[in-house]
Amino acid sequence: MEDSIQQGISNLLDELKSYLYSQRELYGEDIYLDYAPQKAVKMEVEQKQNREQLIKFYYEIKDCQKCELAKNRTKLVFGSGNPDAQIMLIGEAPGYHEDIEGKPFVGNAGQLLDKILSAIQLSRDKIFITNVVKCRPPQNRDPLPEECEACNFILKRQVEIIEPKYILILGRIAASVLLQTEGSIASLRGKVYQVFGAQAIVTYHPAALLRNASLKRSTWEDVQLFQKLYQ
Ligand code: URA
Ligand code: URA
Repeated sequence: MEDSIQQGISNLLDELKSYLYSQRELYGEDIYLDYAPQKAVKMEVEQKQNREQLIKFYYEIKDCQKCELAKNRTKLVFGSGNPDAQIMLIGEAPGYHEDIEGKPFVGNAGQLLDKILSAIQLSRDKIFITNVVKCRPPQNRDPLPEECEACNFILKRQVEIIEPKYILILGRIAASVLLQTEGSIASLRGKVYQVFGAQAIVTYHPAALLRNASLKRSTWEDVQLFQKLYQ
């Protein structure tokens, strides 16, 4: 009997120790007490840090040469939006207009995306938008698996900095990279996935909606499901 109590206490202490270690990894040596004023201060510091960290990282990688797409790009399209967003949208790769402006989703697909966002009371200043591949593939062909692979460290670091809680995955290519599956959007939509520690759902790419308007209804259902997640 005594042995089992001792064992219990010992297990508890081990758990507490590993909890404290994990807290130290996350927050450093400072201890944050769980009451409002201190939390508010910490939030402010964090918010400033996200922006600064993203900018710093952008300057580290903006001349990236890790794959062939670097040769023909005008600008690497890093992503844009709110560095403190809880919501992240992840598309495929820049197109013609994005390559020139260096910003994601500024062409026709981007305009449709803005309409979809406003239908669920979102706008670009509330979210962060980027792509799995940061440079434009020639003639807008699908990015190759090795290009997605070479580029992945950028998205990983962005997610590490922003720590989104919700991710909306736009289109089959982004889904194949983020969910490691070759499934179609039709087979992947309507479910909640864990991606980078966030809750993620999949929907059609807005460019697909421009080619095939009959996909709009499903997309509307998907973004409503997404809205339910983050509300
Ligand atoms: N299509 C995408 O997937 N991303 C963009 O940034 C633009 C079009
Ligand atoms: N270019 C972008 O698209 N976004 C940034 O945050 C910085 C540069």
